[in-house]
Amino acid sequence: MQHLITLNNVTKSFFSDHGQVDVLKNITFHVNEGEIVALIGPSGCGKSTILNLISSLESPSVGQIEKNCVLGYMFQKDNLMPWRNVFDNIKIGLEIKKSITKENIKYLNNLLDKYGLSEFKDYYPNELSGGMRQRVALIRTLALNPDLLLLDEPFSALDSQTRLYVQNDVHDIIHKEKKAALIVTHDISEAVALADRIILLSARPCSVKQEFVLDFPPNSNPLTRRESEKFSLYFNLVYKELNNHEKDQ
Ligand code: ADP
Ligand code: MG
Repeated sequence: MQHLITLNNVTKSFFSDHGQVDVLKNITFHVNEGEIVALIGPSGCGKSTILNLISSLESPSVGQIEKNCVLGYMFQKDNLMPWRNVFDNIKIGLEIKKSITKENIKYLNNLLDKYGLSEFKDYYPNELSGGMRQRVALIRTLALNPDLLLLDEPFSALDSQTRLYVQNDVHDIIHKEKKAALIVTHDISEAVALADRIILLSARPCSVKQEFVLDFPPNSNPLTRRESEKFSLYFNLVYKELNNHEKDQ
């Protein structure tokens, strides 16, 4: 199977007037086609830095990143433009790339239809619920037809109830559109509910501490996973490792 991205021994340090900060140390992992991988680790360990490196906003100090795919980046906040309605928000990527074609517009309309937003095409972001805004942000990311979605704590702005449903929606959309995703989170239950594989990161300087392959039935979604016996089993496994700081030394 082809890897969409591979990080090979990636190390990253930042240099400033205050000195050197070593953020990442020898990070190696990959993401396969159609796979959802969760990156989980303590706050400030370097998770967003990993996504910034993958999307070339930063470059590694040492090591390589191989990419064989088109990337789509969705940030922590939905970053919708308040003065643009839903449709004008989701077509912004196409505008910037100067690829507003009949076919692309049809694809956007299809996505809106499929994911229950076509009635809200003319609405402005402040007229939508948090969950709907997140779906709009996801569709905007899908507009450029990426193979791999980079999602940086995509649910952190939502209240806990909405969060469960939006996780389910996002999981559903990623699968139906046959995308792969790399999701950054510091929430263990979110990682277990969504991912095929969890990569657990240590505190700074951050390295890969452990990898967990989650063996749920192929069509299970986050809500059904949460009800299964395996859910708490995996949760406890990851929780134990995340809090096992001695191994970080
Ligand atoms: P996380 O997303 O896991 O919370 P980040 O990747 O945002 O962590 O940050 C990891 C560390 O790298 C932090 O200490 C942060 O201050 C530092 N850092 C991130 N980006 C920069 C930068 N451009 N310049 C200097 N330091 C940075
Ligand atoms: Mg972050």
